Amino acid sequence: MNAPKQSEYDHIVVGGGAMGAATAWQLAKRGRSVLLIEQFTQNHDSGSSHGGTRIFRLGHEQQTYTSLGIAALDLWRELEAESNETLVELIGHVDHGPAEIVAEIESNLKNQGLACERMSPNAANERWPGITFDANVVYSPDGGRAHAQRTVDTLWRRIVELGGEIWDNTEVAAVQIEGEYAIVETVDQTLRTKSVVVAAGAWLPRLVGHHVSLRPLHAVRAQPSHFAPRPGFDDIDMWPTFIHRGLSAQPEVENSWYGLWTPGEGVKVGSHLVHDELDLDNRSFAINRKFESALQNYVAQWYPGLDADKVTSTTCIYTNEPNEHFILDRKGPLTVCSPCSGHGFKYVPAIGKITADLAMGGTQSVKEWQF
Ligand SMILES: Cc1cc2nc3c(=O)[nH]c(=O)nc-3n(C[C@H](O)[C@H](O)[C@H](O)COP(=O)(O)OP(=O)(O)OC[C@H]3O[C@@H](n4cnc5c(N)ncnc54)[C@H](O)[C@@H]3O)c2cc1C
Repeated sequence: MNAPKQSEYDHIVVGGGAMGAATAWQLAKRGRSVLLIEQFTQNHDSGSSHGGTRIFRLGHEQQTYTSLGIAALDLWRELEAESNETLVELIGHVDHGPAEIVAEIESNLKNQGLACERMSPNAANERWPGITFDANVVYSPDGGRAHAQRTVDTLWRRIVELGGEIWDNTEVAAVQIEGEYAIVETVDQTLRTKSVVVAAGAWLPRLVGHHVSLRPLHAVRAQPSHFAPRPGFDDIDMWPTFIHRGLSAQPEVENSWYGLWTPGEGVKVGSHLVHDELDLDNRSFAINRKFESALQNYVAQWYPGLDADKVTSTTCIYTNEPNEHFILDRKGPLTVCSPCSGHGFKYVPAIGKITADLAMGGTQSVKEWQF
């Protein structure tokens, strides 16, 4: 280790995915000097934030996340206004599946005074003929599409415009804690800082697991696919974003699928629960044909508007917490930001705000997000 040098930055953020970039953006907006360090390049596809789109929704089984979504939407609009980019489009979101889940989502939306529509499967089939509905359906007009890579690119641009600095292709080898200081080691620099934020996605436990007692995080390889719409179903307005929970015709098969139209790529469909184990040091990008074929069978059965044979698959990392919660907390100079569990993207600017508050000395009051 080189002798530590006092950092000239108020904050060092490790990890330039959506969450680290949003944190650095928020800090820079507040006039703090910030350095963002990313081990790969801006557009890399080895983490969780790449690709065209993610689902944005306010409906959730847990009120905490409906409230977080509402806070996020204001901040998405703020980021759009200052960057002149379209990042979230409210094209509507539909949840369907078991009665109790749909009822929870409906009740959380209503509790917040948000619009929602409970529909019969027949009404939903008529309105969105590309998707088959056979059970309980709730529609939220305030859901839609977030542009993923465009968001990361926008945040990186804003950080620099606001006076922040970014080092890409720079791996942080270790983070040490010495009293009120953190020591951040890269290959050629060792920096001492009063505030380090680690937003390192699947790599996070390696960097900070020995400093704080993290709830178990399990990084897995997810494999969503894009399917071509059939003729007559190729109008983007025919596709809300959707989540389908369980198979009511086969109650023994538990799963949850999500999807949305990604402009230029087709309709993305992915399984929220079926994943490959991930070897971070020996990452494979090979497509798991068994998963792909199971997804094609599912699509053939449930999406009359899609051609199940016209499929393009990709891989991405989910970092799962056992109850699908986030870890957003601080211990001394170390702030930890781990919001994935497959549903973090919609909250990006709100996570940036929460994490920036923590890095500036705040404390976490939401129990589910504490260490
Ligand atoms: C297939 C898939 C579908 C999803 N769908 C949705 C959805 O529809 N809606 C939704 O809301 N969310 C969704 N999510 C979740 C969302 O994408 C994630 O919550 C979010 O992208 C996590 O961002 P992150 O910044 O925490 O992680 P990452 O994007 O992985 O960023 C972490 C960064 O840290 C860097 N890093 C790690 N270690 C170091 C180091 N030592 N030194 C320097 N840099 C380092 C990595 O290179 C990486 O760039 C989905 C995720 C996946 C994978």
